[in-house]
Amino acid sequence: MSEADKFLYRDGGKVANPLDQADWATKKLVWIPSETLGFVAGSVKEEKGEECVVELADTGKKVTVNKDDIQKMNPPKFSKVEDMAELTCLNEASVLHNLKDRYYSGLIYTYSGLFCVVINPYKYLPIYSENIIEMYKGKKRHEMPPHIYAITDTAYRSMMQDREDQSILCTGESGAGKTENTKKVIQYLAHVASSFKSKKDQVSTMARNHGELEKQLLQANPILEAFGNGKTVKNDNSSRFGKFIRINFDVNGYIVGANIETYLLEKSRAIRQAKDERAFHVFYYMLTGAGDKMRSELCLEDYNNYRFLTHGNVTIPGQQDRDLFVETMDAFNIMSIPEEERIGLLKIVSAVLQLGNMSFKKERNSDQASMPDDTAAQKVCHLLGMNVTDFTRAILSPRIKVGRDYVQKAQTQEQAEFAVEALAKASYERMFRWLVMRINKALDKTKRQGASFIGILDIAGFEIFELNSFEQLCINYTNEKLQQLFNHTMFVLEQEEYQREGIEWSFIDFGLDLQPCIDLIEKHASPPGVLALLDEECWFPKATDKSFVEKVVQEQGNNPKFQKPKKLKDSADFCIIHYAGKVDYKADEWLMKNMDPLNDNVASLLNQSTDKFVSELWKDVDRIVGLDKVAGMSDGGIHGAMKVRKGMFRTVGQLYKEQLSNLMTTLRNTNPNFVRCIIPNHEKKAGKLEPHLVLDQLRCNGVLEGIRICRQGFPNRIVFQEFRQRYEILTPSTIPKGFMDGKQACVLMIKALELDSNLFRIGQSKVFFRAGVLAHLEEERDIK
Ligand code: ATP
Ligand code: MG
Repeated sequence: MSEADKFLYRDGGKVANPLDQADWATKKLVWIPSETLGFVAGSVKEEKGEECVVELADTGKKVTVNKDDIQKMNPPKFSKVEDMAELTCLNEASVLHNLKDRYYSGLIYTYSGLFCVVINPYKYLPIYSENIIEMYKGKKRHEMPPHIYAITDTAYRSMMQDREDQSILCTGESGAGKTENTKKVIQYLAHVASSFKSKKDQVSTMARNHGELEKQLLQANPILEAFGNGKTVKNDNSSRFGKFIRINFDVNGYIVGANIETYLLEKSRAIRQAKDERAFHVFYYMLTGAGDKMRSELCLEDYNNYRFLTHGNVTIPGQQDRDLFVETMDAFNIMSIPEEERIGLLKIVSAVLQLGNMSFKKERNSDQASMPDDTAAQKVCHLLGMNVTDFTRAILSPRIKVGRDYVQKAQTQEQAEFAVEALAKASYERMFRWLVMRINKALDKTKRQGASFIGILDIAGFEIFELNSFEQLCINYTNEKLQQLFNHTMFVLEQEEYQREGIEWSFIDFGLDLQPCIDLIEKHASPPGVLALLDEECWFPKATDKSFVEKVVQEQGNNPKFQKPKKLKDSADFCIIHYAGKVDYKADEWLMKNMDPLNDNVASLLNQSTDKFVSELWKDVDRIVGLDKVAGMSDGGIHGAMKVRKGMFRTVGQLYKEQLSNLMTTLRNTNPNFVRCIIPNHEKKAGKLEPHLVLDQLRCNGVLEGIRICRQGFPNRIVFQEFRQRYEILTPSTIPKGFMDGKQACVLMIKALELDSNLFRIGQSKVFFRAGVLAHLEEERDIK
């Protein structure tokens, strides 16, 4: 056994120890709920009406439990099973037990029907080497132990065979391993779909391009991570944006290009960080890594001089920011992003920091803001190519439109500070968007049309905090849609299987179950959903977050997926019943978050910046809106110097809804593969699994839902041959000697077993069973 095998193959294989099997059959082993362990094993001693007396396996203590709380244990032959859809007792306890059992044996990947579940090992595992890639290459899913490589290879092979585009969707909570697994998918594809390495003699330009392209594809990630990831309390390398990476292949299966789409960058991290958290990595890389020349060119200062770095220089254990700066610059090199563009990017990063140092004061005799010291403003203007007098005026007393005329309107300290923060966030976001565009340009170098693609989605899973804001609404809305896609896919595949096998069974499309909640969020009218109502309020002069909530309650109050919370101070404003559970939302600042207003005086200065890079970033100004459009800010707000018409300006919610809708259209045209990443504990500890934490995630990520759906049908399927081999012992002398067709034999056996007709279906090549029937047969088999 090689070192890696231990982390791939279950020990003992599929043959259960006969003693265990006997034990299981005689003791009537079951799972009962436990507050600390999730579930504990016990054996049923006595049944009295609705209740049972169960003897706990570990302590020998006897407890009385309600029959509904008991979940049957699977026969031991299913121990550490690789695909949990095979379990005959399909229940939460068995799923958790199986995952835990495997995890403690170092097996982090497990299938559950259409899902691949992966639990973060929080330690290095030797299962991602090129040797392992070679092992998985070209193998069928059931021929190899579960692995992200198996998922990727299956996707790749089906793409080649069926000419169908594929997608691999990684979701899970922060720290669960989405990004790590996404990287493994790309690593695998870069390896198997490269025409380069293996064919040394072939030195055509195309082959060379391929080698380079794959290298660039692999380098896109460190660049994106430098600018889009940061340390949070949950994850030292947390992605603060979602992404969909599309890798294009030609008819021969070689990579011809790639494209990255990003979602919902958490730009507020550029200006403020919670305790023990950091801003985006690039801030620290730049401040530790830049040499003297660059420091002066970028006007860099010491960490502690920047107000936007809330906690100065927070370091990450085991991480050298200086080395990572060099690595990031190397990645730019490989990506062929030249020095001047890099400096352009870093100048924006530096300017964002510098914006935080502009400080305003209230003038003594009025509410007007003043800026006693303009050093920071001068640096900002130097970095962004603006005239400092114009810039200061744009912040302190911008020109606004009153009726038909423009007047200068003095700003309060609060307004000036708000404008500067909004500007910093917008600059960072625009810079990030430009960077993604630039990476895409590099990855599209061959300009060759791909024949088909594999898309990899790395996006946050369901978020349920105590109180949830607009960001959570967007991410939960996304997950409703993804879950709908999953349910629908499962429906289609099951239906196909039943049809193929000629089985009568009308399966229900559980995807439809999710539609009411999706409508509640995204519906345009009659009645308008939450996002539409929020947009509406944003245009309403006197609207506030509170009036928005009132409208939602008024329009959606009777929606079964909507709930008004009980009146409690500081509690939620409304609840949405998502499929993953009830989520409390608090609407503070939603109008502002949705409008995302910007001082358009400054925007036009940036648009006309003397720095070509800066003016490029601000070349589109139609998304810019004056603060007067935001409720509550109308008094003394900034009116648009540029015309803002209702049709032109798009809210954050609108833009996201559209982006998501495009993503869903793309995904619906692919064959989706679902990867559910699970965080085992919140201490980043290897070898520790918190049962309830895992159960919560299994509920949110649809694995348990998938099992519930499975149970509506006939989840266990056995090909005739295997069925006869294992269970003929139960029906001696039923099948006459000599040859008999597999199907015919099974029909006879099933008849002899006297099973209720609702418990099975006989198809063309397999027998289908309801959940639990096989456990029953196993029991019988053991008594024989
Ligand atoms: P976020 O939503 O915050 O971006 P994420 O789901 O993308 O979280 P990752 O960044 O992929 O989480 O993983 C967090 C950390 O867990 C990694 O930095 C790494 O230390 C560890 N980790 C995750 N998966 C693996 C793995 N397969 N092998 C080893 N370590 C892993
Ligand atoms: Mg991530």
